[in-house]
Amino acid sequence: MRPEGEEMEGEVPTCPHCSEKLTAWIPPPDSAWKPERFYVCFNDECPYFVRGWQRMREKFDVSASYRLRFNPRTGTSGPLPVWSATALREFILEEDEQPDE
Ligand SMILES: [Zn+2]
Repeated sequence: MRPEGEEMEGEVPTCPHCSEKLTAWIPPPDSAWKPERFYVCFNDECPYFVRGWQRMREKFDVSASYRLRFNPRTGTSGPLPVWSATALREFILEEDEQPDE
């Protein structure tokens, strides 16, 4: 869909599960994380996220999933629990203006 090689600054990490660019994101104030920038895969078709629904239902009998969360400071990644496809999107950092719209 999008032209390849368009944004190759190497600044934004990509998701190891779906290869989409991750989205800059700040944890909600009531979370256990420090208010520092993470990168999260908000691709609703990411296999990690899609598979999570089934796993959470089987293991915990809950309707929830998780998205890939990457900490650029430590270079580690882990799950970000979500209860819907739109959950936690309000904490996305809108720093990339798209002026050509
Ligand atoms: Zn992904």
